[in-house]
Amino acid sequence: MWDSLCERILAVEAPGGPVERLTIVAPSVVRPGEALSVRLAGLDAKAYPSVECDGVARPVDGPARGLGEVAFETRRPAVASIESVTIVEEGWHRIGFELGGREFLSNPVHCSPDARRIFWGDPHVHTVLSRCNPTQCRSLDFCFVGARWMSGLDWVCAADHVSNTRSDKGKWEAQRRAVRVFDDPPHFATLPGYEASLQGGAGGDNNVYCRDDLEDFVDHYEEGNTRTLAEALPEDCIVVPHHTTRPGKHGELSDAIYPGPERMPVVEIHSKWGTGEFPGNPNALHKPHEGPSYAQDLLGQGYPLGFIAGTDTHATMPSSFGDDSEHIDRLPGLTAIRADRLSRAAVYDAMLDRDCWGTSLERIIMEEGMAGGRMGRVLAWDGEPRAFVAQVAAESNIVRVDIVRNGEDVHAVVGDGWRADVAWTDEDDLAQVAFPPRGWFERPFVYYYLRVTCASGAQAWSSPVWLTV
Ligand SMILES: [Zn+2]
Ligand SMILES: [Zn+2]
Repeated sequence: MWDSLCERILAVEAPGGPVERLTIVAPSVVRPGEALSVRLAGLDAKAYPSVECDGVARPVDGPARGLGEVAFETRRPAVASIESVTIVEEGWHRIGFELGGREFLSNPVHCSPDARRIFWGDPHVHTVLSRCNPTQCRSLDFCFVGARWMSGLDWVCAADHVSNTRSDKGKWEAQRRAVRVFDDPPHFATLPGYEASLQGGAGGDNNVYCRDDLEDFVDHYEEGNTRTLAEALPEDCIVVPHHTTRPGKHGELSDAIYPGPERMPVVEIHSKWGTGEFPGNPNALHKPHEGPSYAQDLLGQGYPLGFIAGTDTHATMPSSFGDDSEHIDRLPGLTAIRADRLSRAAVYDAMLDRDCWGTSLERIIMEEGMAGGRMGRVLAWDGEPRAFVAQVAAESNIVRVDIVRNGEDVHAVVGDGWRADVAWTDEDDLAQVAFPPRGWFERPFVYYYLRVTCASGAQAWSSPVWLTV
């Protein structure tokens, strides 16, 4: 679907200056010998695609076959897609290119006959339709074209504001139609959704995501909460809290307003506002609300929430940087979902199933076995020791991988360059460490998740696995 119109949308709406770096995006999981595409983007200091580049990107020796040189031209965005690339050798790879005397590497690629496929997206992008920082925001067209061709994402959601009379029937129809125009499975998926604000204490700021087209949005800003909102929406919609520690829009939950895991399967743990993992985390929001509304608070209250991450960009830069306002200044977030084939329903179903994780900055891969299952599952503890194994790969060097149990870091693995392997068994008597029955859990429960921290500052948070005791 790349054509001169896409090129013009990028060049008119975000004309970048001199190239600061070349991003190289390849699928995270590929089968040996299958044809794949590799996306290149020469980005300026703010990550806008350069229109001043006449350099040639040359592949460096590596595992991929079929990579050619790419000659960029001035006045055209330095964006390209190379098709029919193959990797034959099984294992973990990165693809390198040289541009302007500097070498750049792709995200990690796992070449495997049977690893589950991973699709990356930004579930939280604002456009001019939000009427929120409109001079920095860009069009709906840019959201979808930029997500696919500039950021190399597999899927995106334009989650524009509707509350406080910020949407109307005309805007909603424009949104619905753009979502249909740019949906192009299995190459690219657009997730229908929007941002539904609620008052602080009533659930705070939430996004609604839909499995398919939604005829009209539902807004409960004035007197609703997360539960009334979820109940007023059609069945195939979920409500997802974000920046839950933001002052004024704090997102603490209670049994009275928690709508259940079928309607609220995940929480956005990180965005460009900061990380809401636990109080005092190194990347917390500016002047955060005391809560208890951090992700670990909500898990401890017995709400089984998986993790996603996005940008909440108000510069319409999916999983990227750009001219956001100064309080939206942290690393961009991404969400990884696992599915056999990409479609908007697959993205939705993976979030519903908590078969997803959140990262900041990098496409960090995790292939894990956790406590006899995988991330997102709720399992019964059989009294035996629980084994944790994970293969982790990042774009930069991995500093550490932590296993978190009920809010405590219980085991750490030091990375070996951009790869890390986790193998650990929890021998503790879970009856001694479990939280008492509360929230959604009718039995004592323990949660575990993995946290990856990289030298670049990038992080990843697996969705938790839960054991009931
Ligand atoms: Zn806003
Ligand atoms: Zn937002």
